[in-house]
Amino acid sequence: MNSQTIKDKLNQMLEDEIKVYPCKNLRASNLGHPCERYLYLLLTQWEEQKAHDKGLQSIFDLGNHMEDFVISQLKKAGFEIITPNNRNWKIEVKGGIISGREDVRIKAENGELIPCEIKGLSPNEFEKLNSIEDFLNSKKYYVRAYPTQLFIYLYKFEKEYGFFCLVNKVTGEIKPIEMHLDYDFGEKCLEKAERIYKAIEDKKIPEPICDPSVCEKCSLQHICGSHLVKSTDIELDDELDNLLDKKEQLQPYVSQLEEVKEQIKKKVGDREKVLTGKYLIERKSFEKKSYTVPGRTEWRMTFKKLG
Ligand code: SF4
Repeated sequence: MNSQTIKDKLNQMLEDEIKVYPCKNLRASNLGHPCERYLYLLLTQWEEQKAHDKGLQSIFDLGNHMEDFVISQLKKAGFEIITPNNRNWKIEVKGGIISGREDVRIKAENGELIPCEIKGLSPNEFEKLNSIEDFLNSKKYYVRAYPTQLFIYLYKFEKEYGFFCLVNKVTGEIKPIEMHLDYDFGEKCLEKAERIYKAIEDKKIPEPICDPSVCEKCSLQHICGSHLVKSTDIELDDELDNLLDKKEQLQPYVSQLEEVKEQIKKKVGDREKVLTGKYLIERKSFEKKSYTVPGRTEWRMTFKKLG
Protein backbone atom coordinates (compact mmCIF):
# COMPACT_ATOMS: atom_id res chain seq x y z
CA MET A 1 0.00 0.00 0.00
CA ASN A 2 1.17 3.55 -0.75
CA SER A 3 -0.43 7.00 -0.66
CA GLN A 4 -1.64 6.64 -4.24
CA THR A 5 -3.51 3.43 -3.35
CA ILE A 6 -5.30 5.26 -0.54
CA LYS A 7 -6.11 8.23 -2.80
CA ASP A 8 -7.44 5.95 -5.54
CA LYS A 9 -9.69 4.12 -3.11
CA LEU A 10 -11.00 7.38 -1.69
CA ASN A 11 -11.74 8.65 -5.19
CA GLN A 12 -13.49 5.41 -6.05
CA MET A 13 -15.56 5.61 -2.87
CA LEU A 14 -16.67 9.17 -3.79
CA GLU A 15 -17.44 8.15 -7.38
CA ASP A 16 -19.59 5.30 -6.08
CA GLU A 17 -21.53 7.63 -3.81
CA ILE A 18 -22.51 10.05 -6.60
CA LYS A 19 -26.15 9.58 -7.49
CA VAL A 20 -28.89 11.56 -9.16
CA TYR A 21 -31.95 11.25 -6.96
CA PRO A 22 -35.56 11.56 -8.14
CA CYS A 23 -37.19 14.91 -7.40
CA LYS A 24 -40.91 14.82 -7.98
CA ASN A 25 -41.99 17.68 -5.75
CA LEU A 26 -40.59 20.91 -4.41
CA ARG A 27 -38.50 20.73 -1.27
CA ALA A 28 -37.89 23.29 1.44
CA SER A 29 -34.21 23.01 0.53
CA ASN A 30 -34.63 23.82 -3.17
CA LEU A 31 -37.59 26.22 -3.18
CA GLY A 32 -35.22 29.15 -2.66
CA HIS A 33 -33.37 28.41 -5.92
CA PRO A 34 -33.51 31.66 -7.89
CA CYS A 35 -34.52 30.11 -11.24
CA GLU A 36 -38.11 28.93 -11.60
CA ARG A 37 -37.22 27.44 -14.95
CA TYR A 38 -34.69 25.23 -13.17
CA LEU A 39 -37.27 24.11 -10.60
CA TYR A 40 -39.77 23.37 -13.38
CA LEU A 41 -37.19 21.26 -15.24
CA LEU A 42 -36.06 19.58 -12.03
CA LEU A 43 -39.58 18.38 -11.26
CA THR A 44 -40.48 17.38 -14.80
CA GLN A 45 -37.15 15.95 -15.97
CA TRP A 46 -35.14 15.22 -12.82
CA GLU A 47 -33.49 12.19 -14.48
CA GLU A 48 -31.78 14.57 -16.91
CA GLN A 49 -29.71 16.20 -14.14
CA LYS A 50 -25.98 16.06 -14.71
CA ALA A 51 -24.35 14.24 -11.82
CA HIS A 52 -22.11 16.37 -9.59
CA ASP A 53 -18.38 15.67 -9.37
CA LYS A 54 -16.46 13.95 -6.59
CA GLY A 55 -15.30 17.30 -5.18
CA LEU A 56 -18.89 18.25 -4.45
CA GLN A 57 -19.64 14.75 -3.16
CA SER A 58 -16.82 15.17 -0.69
CA ILE A 59 -18.33 18.50 0.46
CA PHE A 60 -21.71 16.78 0.93
CA ASP A 61 -20.09 14.03 3.01
CA LEU A 62 -18.38 16.60 5.20
CA GLY A 63 -21.68 18.47 5.57
CA ASN A 64 -23.37 15.31 6.78
CA HIS A 65 -20.95 15.10 9.68
CA MET A 66 -21.44 18.75 10.56
CA GLU A 67 -24.74 17.92 12.22
CA ASP A 68 -23.17 15.49 14.73
CA PHE A 69 -20.45 18.00 15.50
CA VAL A 70 -22.92 20.83 16.20
CA ILE A 71 -25.15 18.60 18.32
CA SER A 72 -22.19 17.52 20.41
CA GLN A 73 -20.91 21.10 20.87
CA LEU A 74 -24.37 22.41 21.82
CA LYS A 75 -24.84 19.57 24.27
CA LYS A 76 -21.46 20.25 25.85
CA ALA A 77 -22.55 23.89 26.22
CA GLY A 78 -25.54 22.65 28.23
CA PHE A 79 -28.35 22.72 25.68
CA GLU A 80 -30.88 20.00 25.17
CA ILE A 81 -30.92 18.98 21.54
CA ILE A 82 -33.61 16.84 20.00
CA THR A 83 -33.49 15.10 16.65
CA PRO A 84 -37.17 14.83 15.67
CA ASN A 85 -38.47 11.27 15.21
CA ASN A 86 -40.40 12.12 12.14
CA ARG A 87 -37.95 14.32 10.31
CA ASN A 88 -39.58 13.97 6.91
CA TRP A 89 -42.81 15.82 6.36
CA LYS A 90 -44.66 17.92 3.81
CA ILE A 91 -46.97 20.88 3.51
CA GLU A 92 -49.65 21.23 0.90
CA VAL A 93 -49.79 24.15 -1.48
CA LYS A 94 -52.07 24.74 -4.44
CA GLY A 95 -51.02 22.23 -7.10
CA GLY A 96 -48.62 20.10 -5.06
CA ILE A 97 -46.55 19.72 -1.94
CA ILE A 98 -43.35 21.04 -0.40
CA SER A 99 -41.46 18.35 1.47
CA GLY A 100 -38.87 18.93 4.14
CA ARG A 101 -36.40 17.25 6.43
CA GLU A 102 -35.36 19.30 9.39
CA ASP A 103 -32.02 19.03 11.17
CA VAL A 104 -32.49 19.42 14.93
CA ARG A 105 -34.50 21.25 17.59
CA ILE A 106 -32.99 23.15 20.47
CA LYS A 107 -34.93 23.36 23.73
CA ALA A 108 -35.67 26.91 24.86
CA GLU A 109 -35.96 27.95 28.55
CA ASN A 110 -39.76 27.54 28.38
CA GLY A 111 -39.44 24.00 27.01
CA GLU A 112 -40.36 24.95 23.46
CA LEU A 113 -38.46 23.01 20.79
CA ILE A 114 -37.06 25.52 18.35
CA PRO A 115 -36.05 24.46 14.80
CA CYS A 116 -32.35 24.76 14.10
CA GLU A 117 -30.83 24.40 10.64
CA ILE A 118 -27.12 23.56 10.46
CA LYS A 119 -24.94 24.86 7.63
CA GLY A 120 -21.22 24.33 7.19
CA LEU A 121 -19.51 27.24 5.45
CA SER A 122 -16.09 28.35 4.26
CA PRO A 123 -14.35 30.76 6.69
CA ASN A 124 -14.90 33.64 4.26
CA GLU A 125 -18.65 33.02 3.95
CA PHE A 126 -18.93 32.33 7.67
CA GLU A 127 -17.51 35.78 8.49
CA LYS A 128 -19.87 37.53 6.09
CA LEU A 129 -23.11 36.12 7.47
CA ASN A 130 -24.37 37.81 10.62
CA SER A 131 -28.05 38.41 9.96
CA ILE A 132 -30.83 37.11 7.74
CA GLU A 133 -30.34 40.20 5.53
CA ASP A 134 -26.76 39.05 4.95
CA PHE A 135 -28.10 35.71 3.73
CA LEU A 136 -30.55 37.39 1.38
CA ASN A 137 -27.85 39.70 0.00
CA SER A 138 -25.22 36.98 -0.41
CA LYS A 139 -23.43 36.60 -3.75
CA LYS A 140 -23.93 32.85 -3.50
CA TYR A 141 -27.36 31.90 -4.71
CA TYR A 142 -27.52 28.83 -2.48
CA VAL A 143 -26.90 31.02 0.59
CA ARG A 144 -29.71 33.36 -0.52
CA ALA A 145 -31.93 30.26 -0.60
CA TYR A 146 -31.35 29.24 3.05
CA PRO A 147 -33.97 31.56 4.64
CA THR A 148 -36.68 30.02 2.43
CA GLN A 149 -35.80 26.61 3.82
CA LEU A 150 -36.02 27.72 7.45
CA PHE A 151 -39.20 29.68 6.74
CA ILE A 152 -40.91 26.48 5.53
CA TYR A 153 -39.93 24.73 8.78
CA LEU A 154 -41.22 27.61 10.93
CA TYR A 155 -44.44 27.75 8.92
CA LYS A 156 -44.99 23.98 9.10
CA PHE A 157 -44.46 23.81 12.86
CA GLU A 158 -46.05 27.19 13.65
CA LYS A 159 -42.93 28.53 15.30
CA GLU A 160 -42.36 32.24 15.70
CA TYR A 161 -38.61 31.87 15.35
CA GLY A 162 -35.80 29.45 14.61
CA PHE A 163 -32.02 29.40 14.23
CA PHE A 164 -29.34 28.81 11.72
CA CYS A 165 -26.28 27.26 13.31
CA LEU A 166 -23.43 28.18 10.97
CA VAL A 167 -20.21 26.23 11.27
CA ASN A 168 -16.84 27.51 10.12
CA LYS A 169 -15.55 24.44 8.32
CA VAL A 170 -11.92 25.27 9.14
CA THR A 171 -12.08 26.37 12.77
CA GLY A 172 -15.25 24.59 13.93
CA GLU A 173 -16.61 27.85 15.35
CA ILE A 174 -20.41 27.86 15.56
CA LYS A 175 -22.45 31.00 14.95
CA PRO A 176 -26.18 30.92 15.73
CA ILE A 177 -28.36 33.34 13.77
CA GLU A 178 -31.96 33.93 14.74
CA MET A 179 -34.68 34.12 12.11
CA HIS A 180 -38.22 35.26 12.84
CA LEU A 181 -41.29 34.16 10.95
CA ASP A 182 -41.87 36.87 8.35
CA TYR A 183 -45.25 36.37 6.73
CA ASP A 184 -44.60 38.72 3.78
CA PHE A 185 -41.42 36.87 2.92
CA GLY A 186 -43.16 33.52 3.48
CA GLU A 187 -46.10 34.43 1.29
CA LYS A 188 -43.71 35.08 -1.57
CA CYS A 189 -42.10 31.64 -1.04
CA LEU A 190 -45.46 29.87 -1.07
CA GLU A 191 -46.66 31.85 -4.10
CA LYS A 192 -43.49 30.83 -5.89
CA ALA A 193 -44.22 27.14 -5.19
CA GLU A 194 -47.76 27.54 -6.49
CA ARG A 195 -46.50 29.33 -9.59
CA ILE A 196 -44.19 26.42 -10.39
CA TYR A 197 -46.92 23.80 -9.96
CA LYS A 198 -49.26 25.91 -12.12
CA ALA A 199 -46.57 26.16 -14.81
CA ILE A 200 -46.20 22.36 -14.75
CA GLU A 201 -49.95 21.92 -15.01
CA ASP A 202 -50.09 24.35 -17.94
CA LYS A 203 -46.93 22.84 -19.47
CA LYS A 204 -45.58 26.37 -19.73
CA ILE A 205 -41.88 26.53 -18.92
CA PRO A 206 -40.93 29.65 -16.88
CA GLU A 207 -38.55 32.26 -18.24
CA PRO A 208 -34.81 31.69 -17.70
CA ILE A 209 -32.97 33.92 -15.25
CA CYS A 210 -29.80 34.26 -17.33
CA ASP A 211 -27.56 34.89 -14.34
CA PRO A 212 -24.12 33.42 -15.11
CA SER A 213 -23.37 32.86 -11.43
CA VAL A 214 -26.35 30.47 -11.30
CA CYS A 215 -26.44 29.09 -14.85
CA GLU A 216 -22.78 28.06 -14.84
CA LYS A 217 -23.43 25.57 -12.05
CA CYS A 218 -26.85 24.47 -13.26
CA SER A 219 -27.22 20.70 -13.54
CA LEU A 220 -29.96 21.16 -16.12
CA GLN A 221 -28.18 23.72 -18.27
CA HIS A 222 -27.99 21.24 -21.17
CA ILE A 223 -31.77 20.99 -21.46
CA CYS A 224 -32.62 24.58 -20.45
CA GLY A 225 -32.35 25.80 -24.04
CA SER A 226 -31.62 29.29 -22.86
CA HIS A 227 -28.46 29.33 -20.86
CA LEU A 228 -25.45 31.48 -21.65
CA VAL A 229 -23.34 29.32 -23.91
CA LYS A 230 -19.95 30.86 -23.05
CA SER A 231 -18.45 29.65 -19.84
CA THR A 232 -16.85 32.13 -17.46
CA ASP A 233 -13.17 31.93 -16.54
CA ILE A 234 -13.49 33.51 -13.13
CA GLU A 235 -16.32 32.28 -11.04
CA LEU A 236 -16.37 34.29 -7.82
CA ASP A 237 -13.54 36.70 -7.20
CA ASP A 238 -13.83 39.11 -4.28
CA GLU A 239 -10.86 41.21 -5.38
CA LEU A 240 -12.30 41.74 -8.83
CA ASP A 241 -15.69 42.45 -7.29
CA ASN A 242 -14.15 45.17 -5.11
CA LEU A 243 -12.41 46.76 -8.08
CA LEU A 244 -15.64 46.78 -10.06
CA ASP A 245 -17.46 48.27 -7.07
CA LYS A 246 -14.81 50.98 -6.91
CA LYS A 247 -15.13 51.59 -10.64
CA GLU A 248 -18.88 52.02 -10.20
CA GLN A 249 -18.40 54.45 -7.30
CA LEU A 250 -15.94 56.55 -9.32
CA GLN A 251 -18.04 56.55 -12.49
CA PRO A 252 -20.04 59.74 -11.63
CA TYR A 253 -16.78 61.63 -11.12
CA VAL A 254 -15.58 60.77 -14.64
CA SER A 255 -18.55 62.51 -16.26
CA GLN A 256 -18.29 65.39 -13.77
CA LEU A 257 -14.62 65.76 -14.69
CA GLU A 258 -15.46 65.86 -18.41
CA GLU A 259 -18.12 68.53 -17.77
CA VAL A 260 -15.74 70.67 -15.72
CA LYS A 261 -13.03 70.36 -18.42
CA GLU A 262 -15.54 71.51 -21.02
CA GLN A 263 -16.53 74.53 -18.89
CA ILE A 264 -12.87 75.49 -18.36
CA LYS A 265 -12.26 75.25 -22.12
CA LYS A 266 -15.20 77.55 -22.78
CA LYS A 267 -14.09 80.09 -20.20
CA VAL A 268 -10.51 80.18 -21.46
CA GLY A 269 -11.74 80.54 -25.06
CA ASP A 270 -9.03 81.67 -27.55
CA ARG A 271 -6.72 83.17 -24.91
CA GLU A 272 -3.22 81.70 -24.76
CA LYS A 273 -2.34 82.60 -21.16
CA VAL A 274 -4.75 83.13 -18.31
CA LEU A 275 -3.76 83.80 -14.73
CA THR A 276 -6.39 82.97 -12.13
CA GLY A 277 -5.89 83.54 -8.41
CA LYS A 278 -4.34 80.08 -8.01
CA TYR A 279 -3.47 78.78 -11.48
CA LEU A 280 -1.67 79.70 -14.66
CA ILE A 281 -3.42 78.30 -17.71
CA GLU A 282 -1.46 78.06 -20.94
CA ARG A 283 -2.96 77.09 -24.27
CA LYS A 284 -0.54 75.70 -26.86
CA SER A 285 -1.21 74.34 -30.29
CA PHE A 286 0.33 71.14 -31.58
CA GLU A 287 0.08 69.20 -34.80
CA LYS A 288 -1.66 65.88 -34.84
CA LYS A 289 -0.35 63.53 -37.47
CA SER A 290 -2.90 61.60 -39.47
CA TYR A 291 -2.25 57.91 -39.60
CA THR A 292 -4.10 54.80 -40.52
CA VAL A 293 -4.64 52.27 -37.79
CA PRO A 294 -3.80 48.77 -39.03
CA GLY A 295 -6.61 46.24 -38.75
CA ARG A 296 -6.59 44.33 -35.48
CA THR A 297 -8.87 42.67 -32.97
CA GLU A 298 -9.75 44.87 -30.03
CA TRP A 299 -11.52 43.84 -26.84
CA ARG A 300 -14.15 45.88 -25.14
CA MET A 301 -15.22 45.01 -21.58
CA THR A 302 -18.76 45.37 -20.34
CA PHE A 303 -19.74 45.01 -16.72
CA LYS A 304 -23.09 43.69 -15.66
CA LYS A 305 -24.01 43.76 -12.00
CA LEU A 306 -25.42 40.41 -10.91
CA GLY A 307 -28.34 39.74 -8.66
S1 SF4 B 1 -29.31 27.25 -17.14
FE1 SF4 B 1 -29.87 29.07 -15.96
S2 SF4 B 1 -31.80 29.74 -16.86
FE2 SF4 B 1 -31.49 27.60 -17.46
S3 SF4 B 1 -32.54 26.38 -15.94
FE3 SF4 B 1 -30.43 26.53 -15.31
S4 SF4 B 1 -30.37 28.29 -13.95
FE4 SF4 B 1 -32.27 28.43 -15.09
